[in-house]
Amino acid sequence: MTGKELFYIAEAHFNGMLAGDGAFTKRCHKWLEDATGAKKALLTHSCTAALEMAALLADIKPGDEVIMPSYTFVSTANAFVLRGGIPVFVDVRKDTMNLDEKLVEAAITSRTRAIVPVHYAGVACEMDTIMDIARRHNLLVIEDAAQGMLSTYKGRMLGGIGDLGAYSFHETKNVVSGEGGALLVNTPAYGVRAEIIREKGTDRSRFFRGEVDKYTWQEAGSSFLPGELIAAFLWAQLLEAQEITQQRLDVWNRYHQLLAPLEQQGVLRRPIVPDACRHNAHMYYVLLAPQTDRSAVLAHLKSHGINAVFHYVPLHSSPAGLRYARVHGDLPVTTDQAERLVRLPLWVGLAHDQQDLIVDALREILLR
Ligand SMILES: *Cc1c(COP(=O)(O)O)cnc(C)c1O
Repeated sequence: MTGKELFYIAEAHFNGMLAGDGAFTKRCHKWLEDATGAKKALLTHSCTAALEMAALLADIKPGDEVIMPSYTFVSTANAFVLRGGIPVFVDVRKDTMNLDEKLVEAAITSRTRAIVPVHYAGVACEMDTIMDIARRHNLLVIEDAAQGMLSTYKGRMLGGIGDLGAYSFHETKNVVSGEGGALLVNTPAYGVRAEIIREKGTDRSRFFRGEVDKYTWQEAGSSFLPGELIAAFLWAQLLEAQEITQQRLDVWNRYHQLLAPLEQQGVLRRPIVPDACRHNAHMYYVLLAPQTDRSAVLAHLKSHGINAVFHYVPLHSSPAGLRYARVHGDLPVTTDQAERLVRLPLWVGLAHDQQDLIVDALREILLR
């Protein structure tokens, strides 16, 4: 919490307008558009909802293929599976755990409709290459930028580069509203349909702007917009977003410095951020050396009161992944590195002595 959340919620309450698209939602939209360069930003209930909107906008039909990493959160795949689409999993890069752009082109078939790069840990995918492949093959690019808010690729905000981008404001992300998200529309042609899909398939947004004299059912849609209490909470967070990011970066950079000796001793590898990216310190993870017993490391940290965790079980190896998706190649990097990854606690206000304790406990078990 930044301090002003309840203040703005009280203001929304005082205004007496609690449904979606009120004053706070409009402020959040404008802030997101100014910050990202998106043509249109639309608050949603979650990043999951924003991805589901993207799948509707992309007109995904049964049998259509969507290229994405297997090393991601389930929502990246679910959004398209709900429309009958088939996730096609491609391996990730060793350095960033992001979609390996060099493998994407070979995964394209006549059924491919979209590429979904996921900016893992808020570190950018190689977007120039991905955008170039998409343009040459007439595919949409939908950025899963759930973790990528305020990170940049060659100076451009993540989520603002592809045709569409999705943010998450879930409480585990950098900027939060409990549950929450946003769809960024960067290709103007999708703007009007995005508003319609988000408002139960109606042109209600245009009606309220006075552009049509009644609103009617235009196409298949749903209710993807959050109420004003959520937007009021989020507004307080957006005003502090730069400060939150800076404080997270301080923690991230200190981990990076403290863990350098362990990397030199070969017991772990620290995260790698490509030169093209300025990241938002969403996550600090380490890759343990092969053959290290990760469960033992996590148990040791837990015994010191440290909540370190692993991350995604690759989707291609999960029950629903086996049922709904297709794999391109063997995904050796995904399989290997997902099993060696450990995330360390990172939040605004993590004190130096707490961080020292974490690093000491890690050193103790890894050099045992
Ligand atoms: C958190 C996350 C999501 C889902 O976000 P919600 O707002 O919880 O729906 C999707 N994709 C990735 C990569 C995420 O990290």
